[in-house]
Amino acid sequence: MTKTTIDYAKTLYGLSVPKEMIQQTIDILEAVPQIKENFINNDIPIEKKHNIIDKVFPKNMRDYLKILCDNQNMDIFDDIIKVYEGMKEKDSSKLIATIYYTVYPNIEQINKVKEFLCKKFQKESIEMKFIEDKSLIGGFKIRIGNQEYDWSMIGRLKSMEQKLTSKGSSLNSSDEIITILKSEIAATEFDLKKHEIGIVKWIGDGIAVVDGLDHVMYGEIVIFDTGVKGMVQDIRREEIGCILFGRVIGMKEGTRVIRTGKMAGIPVGENFIGRVVDAQGAPIDGKGEITAADYRFIENEAPGIVERKSVSVPLATGILSIDAMFPIGRGQRELIIGDRQTGKSSITIDTIINQKGKDVICIYVAIGQKKSTISKTVSTLKKYGAMNYSIVVSSTASEPASLQYIAPYSGTALAEYFMYKGKDVLIVYDDLSKHAVAYRALSLLLERSPGREAYPGDVFYLHSRLLERSSCLSEEYGGGSITALPIVETQAGDVSSYIPTNVISITDGQIFLESNLFFSGMRPAVNVGLSVSRVGGAAQTKAMKKVSGSIRIDLAQYREMEIFTQFSADLDTVTQEQLQYGRGLVELLKQPLYQPLELHQQVITLCAANKRLFVDIEISKLKEFLKDILVYFDTMYPEVGKEIEEKKELTDEQIQKILEIIIEYKSRY
Ligand code: ATP
Ligand code: MG
Repeated sequence: MTKTTIDYAKTLYGLSVPKEMIQQTIDILEAVPQIKENFINNDIPIEKKHNIIDKVFPKNMRDYLKILCDNQNMDIFDDIIKVYEGMKEKDSSKLIATIYYTVYPNIEQINKVKEFLCKKFQKESIEMKFIEDKSLIGGFKIRIGNQEYDWSMIGRLKSMEQKLTSKGSSLNSSDEIITILKSEIAATEFDLKKHEIGIVKWIGDGIAVVDGLDHVMYGEIVIFDTGVKGMVQDIRREEIGCILFGRVIGMKEGTRVIRTGKMAGIPVGENFIGRVVDAQGAPIDGKGEITAADYRFIENEAPGIVERKSVSVPLATGILSIDAMFPIGRGQRELIIGDRQTGKSSITIDTIINQKGKDVICIYVAIGQKKSTISKTVSTLKKYGAMNYSIVVSSTASEPASLQYIAPYSGTALAEYFMYKGKDVLIVYDDLSKHAVAYRALSLLLERSPGREAYPGDVFYLHSRLLERSSCLSEEYGGGSITALPIVETQAGDVSSYIPTNVISITDGQIFLESNLFFSGMRPAVNVGLSVSRVGGAAQTKAMKKVSGSIRIDLAQYREMEIFTQFSADLDTVTQEQLQYGRGLVELLKQPLYQPLELHQQVITLCAANKRLFVDIEISKLKEFLKDILVYFDTMYPEVGKEIEEKKELTDEQIQKILEIIIEYKSRY
């Protein structure tokens, strides 16, 4: 029995040869007609023909061409392709629509749906499958490929619910609710909801692997049928990986996922000031809904070079050792680094408290901390009146890693809202070590390959894209700024491990806190040798610059001398004086919690220190003495402090005056 064209076409179809290869074969045959002629020429031996096929044609086509060649049927190749193409087309036109119904539709309805779908998908006919689904309450739902059209009652109710909850407490009266309901009903009567949907393939540990959702974007929010939101983090050829922002309870293989088409973002606005929110911007302080002014994506591009200007205005921490030796400017990123329990958080809290009346909005982002620690921090801020200009973004250790991962980005989105409005913002990330750990957990669960210390390869980018968003905008762009104080925890003072080195290289300097100093009573435990501020010097006030010049060197000299003279009994007077001075200096730099010093107080203290006016005072009484002097200045000579605060400068006459007052005080008491 001889084979027909259709038989050949069926064989070709069965081989499932890729389209490109068939096209390539056609091209070759067309380009060199000789080949075809040779194939049907009886005089050429079969082996030679096979040899040519092996050399010239694409791999998947060779066996097939050999069959044709052996039957000397090559001239019908074109006919075969035509039939074959027809087969393909017929196949791709075979779409199956599944209709979920509560009451079986009548013929008229079915025809209408068919007509609608044929028009939508530009097909001659569409196969239909009917499945009863009582959970729809009423109406019906059509699923075709990856798309879903929803005319069901439950779908309408869900969309109404979403509209109402998104309005939240901004709904003032029942009239408003009725208006929304009415318009919603009117709209859904004719307008059907089209969704792109996916199906959960695998779920666990805050991660879901989803099949479908072919057009989803990286970072897009998707909603699962249980109401939990997720964010797309991994797009692969066959599936996508999402991180979940809620509990996995109730989700299983086969749970439906819907695209929202919206990138992850949070509501922002002035009303957030004074509030405690979670990583998604929802209030968690029990003070009711927050009316947002805007919605910002949590990931945003950092300002470009043209939009920036260099740091020039100081951001006073109120901590003498930092303001004198490692000044921070608005728009700077200064890392606070040290072992656990060395006072890292305390420095940032003090800095926030010190911003009172300085027109700086403060955002404290807590990442992976205990709930109790966060509530303690919030109550401290409240106690010192700092909540009036602060926002706390909290993602506790008990929350999913995904929320800990997005918290700093959410905080920065809030900060950007204010920066682009021309305001100065201070943002604290407490801390980025825990952030990196949360990201590591997510990445490993998403099966990304681990690198150094098991962190994924892009952990550097994780922090650089975050911290680059802190900057100082130039006047044309509003002149706002974001100053960042990221915190990183070290293990046994090791600054050379992965995350610390990364963040050190991204920031403009670091304040290194040492546990030895902390336990020896030197608090804040700033290590003078390892700390640095690379750009803040440009922002330091002239007054501070004038008096803080030699402090660092004096301290370093004292530390060295202290080690040398540890065991020697009799010292000459010069050395003794030097030691006495150093001891006093160290004492002066000690500062209790929540007592930030103002500029003029710092300047007066440093003036006294520079001229060694306190060397004759007993170390144990020095702190008391200094406190009294500052009070004496503020009550007896308030104009001295006022002048410094206003002009931010210090003349030699002013220095002379300060010294005279101190000497006067000393002689009186
Ligand atoms: P963790 O690693 O747990 O986050 P941390 O490095 O953030 O700790 P803090 O919580 O700020 O450290 O401070 C640890 C302890 O040291 C707290 O009990 C705090 O009261 C105390 N402390 C911090 N700074 C000072 C200071 N300047 N004077 C006195 N006590 C301080
Ligand atoms: Mg801390």
